[in-house]
Amino acid sequence: MTVDEGRAAATPTPVGDVNRLVDGGDMDCGSGLLLLITRAMRRLEHGDLLGIRSAEPSVAVDLPIWAELVGHEVAHEHVETAGGPWWFAVRKVVGPAQDTMFTLGDRTPVGQRLWAYTNFDCNLACSYCCAESSPKAAARRLTPEVAREVFAQFRSMGGRELFLTGGEPFMHPQLGELVEAGDGLDRTILTNAMVFARGTRRATLEQLDRSVVLQVSLDSATPEVHDAQRGAGSGRGPSAASGRPGPSASGCGWPRRSTTRTRPECGPCTFGSTTKPSTRRSG
Ligand code: SF4
Repeated sequence: MTVDEGRAAATPTPVGDVNRLVDGGDMDCGSGLLLLITRAMRRLEHGDLLGIRSAEPSVAVDLPIWAELVGHEVAHEHVETAGGPWWFAVRKVVGPAQDTMFTLGDRTPVGQRLWAYTNFDCNLACSYCCAESSPKAAARRLTPEVAREVFAQFRSMGGRELFLTGGEPFMHPQLGELVEAGDGLDRTILTNAMVFARGTRRATLEQLDRSVVLQVSLDSATPEVHDAQRGAGSGRGPSAASGRPGPSASGCGWPRRSTTRTRPECGPCTFGSTTKPSTRRSG
């Protein structure tokens, strides 16, 4: 999967000249393709054309629906053979700016699930990470003070579930305080399960309330396939959370949830989950 990062210029494709091109490979719309498209669209002007190539059959159905939903126009479509690949030229349409809405004091509807990015640095640098996390990424840590205020507000509005994600949350030195700030909510930490084998991160792990769920994404049950997306050796940590031998969270006695799919989804770890997690309990 590639995104043409060059300047907007006419690029010839089977759907005509386009200003920018996204080759989505075999990604489907739920596994990161829409993020690539959205990122490319931001770099275009009103009326420009984005070329999209896809080898995934579901995209032929889903992409026009997405374009209609967001207000862009599918200008041209082309399929090379009955089995693909499919080509689209999507014209960027910038609608009129939304007018500011005022209410008469009605409570703002709120979802029951809050996702909080604890930090943006990560020990891994997965190719598809939508947070663009890596060891070199700026940490941009959520502070416990802000977390307490936000989580309290969320609780008061009827929120029930808190997902702490990143980046790798266990790289945040105050993760324990962030988890405590979410007391009273159903709390899940999304982790790659690789960095808490020892030291202060291990201590943080051991001190967690056992009602906290650890959710670990596996790109495949086969470590080699998992490693191809996430880096050599990365399958060893998550393998423990999936119930196989390994160093991570085994035996510490709190709920773990693993999600597995055969293609990468947008990180950070189940961010755009199209999987159906199965909850596992250890110890
Ligand atoms: S997808 Fe998850 S593990 Fe991979 S770089 Fe992003 S935050 Fe880290």
